[in-house]
Amino acid sequence: MTPIQQRLQALCSQLPPHVQLVAVSKFHPTEAVEQCYQTGQRLFGESREQELRHKAPVLPKDIEWQFIGHLQTNKVRHVVPIASRILSVDSLRLLQEIEKQAARIGKQMGVLLELHVTDEPTKSGFTPDECLDMLQSGVWRQMSHVRIEGIMCMATLTDDEAVIRSNFRTAIRAFTTYKEQFFADSPHFCIRSWGMSDDWPIAVEEGSNMVRIGTDIFGPREY
Ligand SMILES: *Cc1c(COP(=O)(O)O)cnc(C)c1O
Repeated sequence: MTPIQQRLQALCSQLPPHVQLVAVSKFHPTEAVEQCYQTGQRLFGESREQELRHKAPVLPKDIEWQFIGHLQTNKVRHVVPIASRILSVDSLRLLQEIEKQAARIGKQMGVLLELHVTDEPTKSGFTPDECLDMLQSGVWRQMSHVRIEGIMCMATLTDDEAVIRSNFRTAIRAFTTYKEQFFADSPHFCIRSWGMSDDWPIAVEEGSNMVRIGTDIFGPREY
């Protein structure tokens, strides 16, 4: 086994069975993805449209690409045909563009709504209240080519475990509210994606069922 395969296997053995793993391969070469693929990993995360477009065609077709980065509306038409899910929907406008592009190619696109749960001003995403307003508007109910499957968020970049935990609790409270108010009849609205290399054990304790991990598998990224 290669070091990447060893780290992936060690991680998988620590994750509870109900927690899905997205192996975040951004900035890592296709060979690194292949090594994970050989051990059975199928969910990979990419954050840049160009990189996804370069990697996907040379890698196995049954990889389920998860788009995790900030997505501009003019890039949506390139991402929709490749990705099986977009985890970073942070505006109604973006959701509408995904619907349009998915309809154009007759695809149903899985999406997560990205929540901004920190006090940091820079991170993207809906605040929980903005997201509630968007859901209340009901516009999304007309969209037959997007399927809202849950919530994604990132915690504050800090060593303070209490802050991280509190961010995740904000996310799960929002998830539970949306589930009750808008998705009680939708079994698909079930994904709670939080947790990265530095905070995934806390995330799993705080209700995550889809962690997104790069560094712990592939090592540090070279930007
Ligand atoms: C890069 C990235 C990750 C993975 O981060 P690591 O710290 O390398 O595990 C997870 N989620 C998102 C949205 C990312 O951009």
